[in-house]
Amino acid sequence: MLRVLKIEGQDRPVAVCDLCHDRIADAAEGRFYWATNEKGELVEKGRILFLHQRCSKSFEKGNHHLDWCQLPLEYLPILLGDTLNLDWNAARKRTDDGGHKEHT
Ligand SMILES: [Zn+2]
Repeated sequence: MLRVLKIEGQDRPVAVCDLCHDRIADAAEGRFYWATNEKGELVEKGRILFLHQRCSKSFEKGNHHLDWCQLPLEYLPILLGDTLNLDWNAARKRTDDGGHKEHT
């Protein structure tokens, strides 16, 4: 799951393993999962789960009722950036210039 944690005094979004609930601190340590049915149709409204590599086997053993798709976690920001039509350079500049939380 995605959560916000306080990191060096700043509120920052982080990926948390849906099995052990520890933060995934390095993209190379994680994968993201989503489920399909036997027809390849998305289920659970396309919900994304985050897992450490080390937790993947335990998760898969305990969740046979769905067909799980997965990709390395490092793909997620790139693929999400594509679906958000993200201008990476502009977004990086705005984040570096502040990245401060806004209250509503
Ligand atoms: Zn884990």
